Amino acid sequence: MISEKMKPLLHNNSAIRMMFEEGSRMKALYGEDQVYDFSLGNPNVPAPPEVKQAILDILETQDPVYVHGYMSNAGFPETRKAIAGSLNRRFGTCFCEKNILMTVGAASGLNAALKILLNPGDRVITFAPYFVEYGSYVANYDGELAVVPPDTETFQPDLEAFAKTIDEKTKAVIINTPHNPTGVIYSEETLRRLADILEQKQRELGTTIFLISDEPYRELAYDGAVVPYVTQYYRNTMVVYSYSKSLSLPGERIGYLAIPDEAEDAEQLLAAAAIAIRVSGAVNAPSLMQLVIARCVDAAVDVAYYDRNRNALYNGLISCGFTCAKPQGAFYLFVKSPFADETKFCEMAKKYHILMVPGRSFACPGYVRLAYCVSYETIQNSLPAFQALARECFAEK
Ligand code: PLP
Repeated sequence: MISEKMKPLLHNNSAIRMMFEEGSRMKALYGEDQVYDFSLGNPNVPAPPEVKQAILDILETQDPVYVHGYMSNAGFPETRKAIAGSLNRRFGTCFCEKNILMTVGAASGLNAALKILLNPGDRVITFAPYFVEYGSYVANYDGELAVVPPDTETFQPDLEAFAKTIDEKTKAVIINTPHNPTGVIYSEETLRRLADILEQKQRELGTTIFLISDEPYRELAYDGAVVPYVTQYYRNTMVVYSYSKSLSLPGERIGYLAIPDEAEDAEQLLAAAAIAIRVSGAVNAPSLMQLVIARCVDAAVDVAYYDRNRNALYNGLISCGFTCAKPQGAFYLFVKSPFADETKFCEMAKKYHILMVPGRSFACPGYVRLAYCVSYETIQNSLPAFQALARECFAEK
């Protein structure tokens, strides 16, 4: 009965989601505090207090017909204006209200961006490891995802391999920095080189290639790391942003798509994106949350909490003998599996009630992802379990 397009999705249902279900099952069996669930990037740090206050104030003081009503598909003007102003102050950009379209999280921003760019058979390039849903989003518009293999030394993009992957069918490139699952931040130098390659290929092929910068983790950077603003390096850039992680609001489904004036056909793309949001079935981003964002545009979660978790888990794993690059941002550790087949490592970890996601879910086998957006106590309590796991792994090797 179901469509041909849905069949593979049903079979390959996200390993991350399956791990989440497994976590719920194990917690019911052994108790919440006896399971160390590092599977899902669901923030445990609460939304900043300004968010709750804004919700209360809006409900108390604003006209409910306005608060809960339809608005233009692109979103409330005051929200879009507030976001444009905040970006201009922080990154020296020149956005206006018209450049910002409110979306249902980053997922809907990515879908809108791909819908307005792709014809069937067009290619989108990304770098392994990558957020697994990119494949499904590209397939939604009958595009083809081309994946540049990982540079497992640095997990920075392999730009030589990238240049060779670009062809006349290439319409877009998706990057994600700070990065899920490695925590890497693309340096200014990397972005400059990437932009140079794209400029050169556009000239050579006579085509337009858009860079889609997927940035749900922009605000989660540690040790003073700078996250360069991508529109400053390449004019044909679209920025996909989300408040899921930066304000801990993943269930509220709020984000935006930003297209700068300097992008080719910017006006037409902006008009098309507003329609793409509507015809995708989202119609508009959630109204109450848009009004919250207008008031909380510069609010921030407690990044120091994630930083403490990062240090505790990273130091704990390294002292057990595991290998992992220290992440600069986001809230994930990407750990080298002691076995070539990392699913064996994940299965073994379950014996110690540790849940982690195999790297093949991000097109990077041989590694596992641990999401450290959990309580500090969970990390501390998990360390003896990691020590026992390390003993078993290294004894077997
Ligand atoms: N992009 C990346 C890299 C992500 O890690 C996620 C969520 O985890 C998303 C996009 C989707 O974000 P949202 O929940 O805002 O749609």
